[in-house]
Amino acid sequence: MLKKELQIFTFGDLLEHYPIRHIDKTKLNLIHEINFQTDYIQVAGRLVQFEVLGESRAKRLVAIVKDSSGTLELTWFQGINWVQKSLYIGSDYLIFGKTGYFNGKPQMVHPEIEPYAPLKAGAKAFLEPVYPSTEKLKARGLNGRQLAKLTYTLLEILSPQNLTENIPADLVTELKLLSRFEAVKGVHFPATEAVYKKAVERLKFEEFFIAQIRLQLVRLQRNNISKGVVFEKVGSNFNDFYNQYLPFKLTGAQKRVLKEIRTDTARGRQMNRLLQGDVGSGKTIVALLSMLLAADNAFQSCLMAPTEILAQQHYYSLTSLLQQMPIEIALLTGSTKVAERRRILKGLLEDTIHFVVGTHAVIEDKVQFKNLGLVIVDEQHRFGVAQRARLWAKATIPPHVLVMTATPIPRTLAMTAYGDLEYSIMDELPPGRTPITTVQRNEMARASVMGFVKEEIASGRQAYFVYPLIEESEKLSYEDLMQGYEQVKSFFPEPAYKISMLHGRQPADQKKANMERFVSGDTHIMVSTTVIEVGVNVPNASVMVIESAEKFGLSQLHQLRGRVGRGTEKSFCILLTGSKASKEAKERINIMCATNDGFKIAEKDLEMRGPGDIEGTRQSGALNFKIASIVNDKALLELAKQKAEEIVEQDLYLNNVSNATLKQFLQSQKVAYGWGKIS
Ligand code: ADP
Ligand code: MG
Repeated sequence: MLKKELQIFTFGDLLEHYPIRHIDKTKLNLIHEINFQTDYIQVAGRLVQFEVLGESRAKRLVAIVKDSSGTLELTWFQGINWVQKSLYIGSDYLIFGKTGYFNGKPQMVHPEIEPYAPLKAGAKAFLEPVYPSTEKLKARGLNGRQLAKLTYTLLEILSPQNLTENIPADLVTELKLLSRFEAVKGVHFPATEAVYKKAVERLKFEEFFIAQIRLQLVRLQRNNISKGVVFEKVGSNFNDFYNQYLPFKLTGAQKRVLKEIRTDTARGRQMNRLLQGDVGSGKTIVALLSMLLAADNAFQSCLMAPTEILAQQHYYSLTSLLQQMPIEIALLTGSTKVAERRRILKGLLEDTIHFVVGTHAVIEDKVQFKNLGLVIVDEQHRFGVAQRARLWAKATIPPHVLVMTATPIPRTLAMTAYGDLEYSIMDELPPGRTPITTVQRNEMARASVMGFVKEEIASGRQAYFVYPLIEESEKLSYEDLMQGYEQVKSFFPEPAYKISMLHGRQPADQKKANMERFVSGDTHIMVSTTVIEVGVNVPNASVMVIESAEKFGLSQLHQLRGRVGRGTEKSFCILLTGSKASKEAKERINIMCATNDGFKIAEKDLEMRGPGDIEGTRQSGALNFKIASIVNDKALLELAKQKAEEIVEQDLYLNNVSNATLKQFLQSQKVAYGWGKIS
């Protein structure tokens, strides 16, 4: 039962089933103190009456308890038989629960209840843990207090030897941490509030520390053992392009990241680097220059994008940038025609094609390279770890890997979910960008919004209208999109205005044609779903209207907004909302209007949604913290990371005596607590 309801399989799990709060048993309230503001309360009283009322589904057990000040009604809807059997009229009980009102009288539904004996004079008061327990368990009488008893009994028979220290002794001393055993005891049965705090601090640190040790072991051991192809020199490809064809000066951040990549790829070990840059910070050119570096050392490169549209766009922009360069570049996607595909596969095998740009089609097993040296994954969270791993098999020495995120992810999330990667940040936008102005407008104001878009178009700009068609297969939203298209058309009639439309259901050539018309400036307006979310780059587009903006998440809004403000013209993002936006939706929109900083938005997103809901991180085991929180315990995480790094850097295989218990713990963790199972 514990197994199914609470995922408690072993004694260890029971110890890690942490209390949600503690109650001071000596603190009793009187029944007459209950009022409409009362939340949880603890009273002691005598059971004076109980009876079963109602039939079948309305069946309930109602009991009355009485203390010196009044009476309180207790109600059970489930586990009636069990409760009935375990209660006796005339006995005293300690009752804890949430109060409510029913027919004007205070009432407690499914309270925690146990026989009450007043504390003897001089008895040591202690804080009693309250555990999360489910209704089903409660119904069977296994409530938080029963769990507390189980845990108490378990801790009584355990000694420090059973819970050996897993943090190196020096560190425990340095950080003044409680020992592991003390902490586990203290989190469940603290003598004082202060002990509880110390216990929690120790356990949170331990949780982060162990996770960081694992990540740093992966990162630094891989660094040490993995061979990597060596990009020895910066040659004519890189230099010619840099000196003759680079269309702008690199930002400081771009230069810094290139230096990091240059160092990584020259040292004879595989690079595994995460490049985080805000929307529009110029990641593509960093990718291109890295690929040229690979080419200078006679290695092929591969650039993967999450969507066909983006792959195409990367292909066209790289092709035009590389026009004068002796580089062969190919585009390989799901819709590449058979003959062309054959030509590309042959070219890659013979190294007559140097760069290949594509979607996940490039990681199919059929695609083999002569000399693959660098893989760049744009917008990584859509490429799972397993997909990335397939690339490793494409060369005898694994290629260098550069992972580029589409939008920033919060630092704490990067540290936990991608902590095994090296980490670069581009927090600088190219010069000359004027910040995007973001406003929220009600649907009622549509006409004036359209008027504004007309003015922008009249001055030579282009505009996007985006609809929240998230599930491309949803018929209803598809119809919404069509309606939206008709509506836009009625405001912007042909032939004065030309409109492109883009959505996931179109055949690839149609998508391509529509995109091209918008890119070339032939159409004024792009009506689209979120397929344009990622990476699309049309610098002349200066207005983005997002329909039903309340339906989008924060990072998606930020990513969409990043489609404008890419040129030198002042750009605008208009968030159209219906009247029924939730509180969270309103907050998201306020944040969007207040800042353009993707790093700030990412932090907010994490705070609002919690780590489990951030796209792409759900499966990441790194996030299953039991007591620590990457939202609330940032400082502890930083500290744990720093300490873990220091330890692994000095002792890569944890062979020092001082790290022996830590090593043992890591090796035993899965099979730990082999004391049989409870259930
Ligand atoms: P993202 O980081 O979102 O992928 P892109 O690589 O698409 O951004 O770059 C956005 C735009 O900024 C492109 O039009 C690109 O040509 C331009 N750009 C990139 N770097 C610079 C720079 N250093 N100076 C001026 N413009 C730049
Ligand atoms: Mg990009």
